[in-house]
Amino acid sequence: VPTRVTVLGLGAMGSALAAAFVKAGHPTTVWNRTPGKDAELIAAGALGAESAETAVAGADLIIACLFDHASVHETLDPVTGILTGRDLVNLTSTEPAGAHELADWAAQHGIPFLDGGIMATPPMIGQPGSALLYSGSEEVFDRHRQTLELLGSAEYFGAEPSKASLVDFALLSGMYVMFSGFYHGAAMVRSAGMSAAEFGRRAEGWLGAVLSTLPATGERIDSGDYSVPFQTLDFTKAAVDAIVSASRDAGVDLDIVGPVKNLVDRQVAAGYGHESSERMFESLHPPVRPA
Ligand code: NDP
Repeated sequence: VPTRVTVLGLGAMGSALAAAFVKAGHPTTVWNRTPGKDAELIAAGALGAESAETAVAGADLIIACLFDHASVHETLDPVTGILTGRDLVNLTSTEPAGAHELADWAAQHGIPFLDGGIMATPPMIGQPGSALLYSGSEEVFDRHRQTLELLGSAEYFGAEPSKASLVDFALLSGMYVMFSGFYHGAAMVRSAGMSAAEFGRRAEGWLGAVLSTLPATGERIDSGDYSVPFQTLDFTKAAVDAIVSASRDAGVDLDIVGPVKNLVDRQVAAGYGHESSERMFESLHPPVRPA
């Protein structure tokens, strides 16, 4: 018997999730706070529910894809009685502390709970390249793994419910800071008349090439041994100082590269200039290395 899925929240993402379940032939019930957003899904075969209460009753798997942590409570608190004993997967982006709080709340009400992070945009759902991260109840993950794989690759990060959220936000931080670096570079070349579009075409090749070194960079950081430099901090300091100076000359704000210089300078000032530049990581006061 195919899993009866309910999707709560039919924004851009919730609609894409529901569409993937419908397409795969799962009996899919959908609900949205503001009515009228379910027309396309109903035409495709979904069942529209009048209320969150009726949407949840009869479901084997409930997916919440709402706006934020508060909206999850606003939607689910009134229906906790019906949720008891039914598998709940929260795909609303919530901070690690929020995921933790939801897991505690679910445990109090006897609701098997899995928290997830979606590393995809709505059009990517169900396509190659879509990845979803999960943590929390292993039973829920195992029971619904095949169904969840319809959305994208499904990876389980363990019973600690906030782990998937932490990894999700860590990946997003890498993305946002990288894009900010791109914006900085685009502002620099604009001072010489180059368009951001042209710079984008050049940056795609360059950043793509350097990104392949990330796994090795991570291994160096984990080892904690920066003694054999690939590139020394002194070298990196010279490069970053030159970038700061060129940016100033180009009239570009230093909000992006200033903190990078700060990370390098702190390690050089501490006497590590001859060590490998990945030591910049240590300026972030990272928690103790994993065993
Ligand atoms: P949208 O803004 O398109 O949709 C938000 C949804 O939340 C709507 O269905 C809205 O209902 C509902 N909602 C908001 N507040 C409440 C509330 N208080 N009670 C009940 N329902 C509420 O967002 P997305 O669909 O794009 O995103 C949904 C979640 O997915 C977010 O947490 C987002 O971070 C996450 N996500 C989105 C990605 C994306 O690329 N879009 C990528 C990865 C994660 P109503 O129609 O009534 O306003």
